[in-house]
Amino acid sequence: MDVSVIGTGYVGLVTGAGLAEKGHTVICYDIIKEKIKDIERGVSPIYEKGLDIIIKRNIGEKLNTSMDLKSAVLDSAITFICVGTPSNKDGSINLRYVKNACREIGSVLEEKKEYHLIVVKSTVVPGTTEEVIVPLLEKFSGRKAYRDFGVVMSPEFLREGVAVEDFLKPDRIIIGANDKRSSDLLRDLYNEFNCPILRVDIKTAEMIKYASNTFLAVKISYINEIGNICKELGVDVYDVAKGVSLDHRISRYFLNAGLGFGGSCLPKDVKALIHRARELNYEPGLLKSVIKVNEKQAARMLDIARGKLGSLKKKRVAVLGAAFKPGTDDIRESPVHPLIKGLLEEKAEVLVYDPQANSNMEDVYREKIKYVDSVDDALRGSDLALIVTAWAEFELMDYTLMRKPVVVDGRRAVKKKRGMDYEGICW
Ligand code: NAD
Repeated sequence: MDVSVIGTGYVGLVTGAGLAEKGHTVICYDIIKEKIKDIERGVSPIYEKGLDIIIKRNIGEKLNTSMDLKSAVLDSAITFICVGTPSNKDGSINLRYVKNACREIGSVLEEKKEYHLIVVKSTVVPGTTEEVIVPLLEKFSGRKAYRDFGVVMSPEFLREGVAVEDFLKPDRIIIGANDKRSSDLLRDLYNEFNCPILRVDIKTAEMIKYASNTFLAVKISYINEIGNICKELGVDVYDVAKGVSLDHRISRYFLNAGLGFGGSCLPKDVKALIHRARELNYEPGLLKSVIKVNEKQAARMLDIARGKLGSLKKKRVAVLGAAFKPGTDDIRESPVHPLIKGLLEEKAEVLVYDPQANSNMEDVYREKIKYVDSVDDALRGSDLALIVTAWAEFELMDYTLMRKPVVVDGRRAVKKKRGMDYEGICW
């Protein structure tokens, strides 16, 4: 089938390249022209395992790019909306990219005589597709949804770091549609996928995405709270997690106590659902606690460091890792941000090393931080190392390079601790 993808970030580019890999003809479009130029050259503008390979394999054949949205939509039968949905300051969802995309797509649909299907893949709070997206598409196209064009909400569940694998072999596909024609067309597109495909209405599909992400966030904050209590008790939370997870109802996933969750999804999605619930006059106490516990973890890390070194003023601090998890260069809402803020406020001397995310960090913090190219360069002469991301290369770090071998581990990353003054954040 002929598909266009609007927005070539983590979700859009993986979706586009993944659908090309499955044999569909795909056109990718983004407002950032550099991204399109990179893709055209067969290069991924983001770091994601295996993505370069499938882009190179398909570019110029099944995978194509466009510098304008109009041709992308006109030359396809299905358009995926994959633009970002960040948070507003108050935690509510910011729909400006989605709205812009809808206005532009709507204007093109005005010219298009044939039936066209719009698939919303961006994460949007329940009610958005019917209350915001469909009205905008109708207004700018002058045409009727579910009759002249179709609409499906099909949330994405890929995990950064293993996004390509997750897209090609998903646990499930959710097709949220209010009419059979839209639903059937997307079902056909997904014919090559061998996984459960659940058909629901649009609002249910939107809620499934939020229910999934908030559940994962609940698990992380739950184990962090248990970990914080375990630490006071002198009990190892990782042994507790092992015992707990032998209960198949619980499972071992997302029970790694530590610095908490970050990234472009869990923090913003939990906050957006809290905000949406409040609009509906429901006060979501559990979800609010999930955010509170999460925010506590970075502060705990600095408290532990201060407990060992006193004031951090003028102390040389190696921040190891910045990405919100290993396998990605994504630093959005990473716990590195409150840590850097705290360290700079305290006038510490900060060195950052992340094997993939240094350049994204430099885009945010240009001054006051030194970026280095190896763990050793970060550790040399440092008074303190803070482990933010569980990159494998931190497991056997050479702490003897440090001026004082004080290590606070936020990810249970260090394997050989002998000789260093080591403390885990909740173990
Ligand atoms: P991203 O910021 O990496 O990419 C979004 C892209 O959209 C950017 O390249 C931006 O330039 C582009 N864009 C914005 N407005 C545009 C427009 N009018 N026309 C064309 N392009 C436009 O975002 P992402 O991480 O890929 O997330 C996209 C959506 O998918 C979000 O709603 C997110 O919550 C959801 N999601 C993300 C993940 C993830 O792991 N990143 C997983 C599941 C769902």
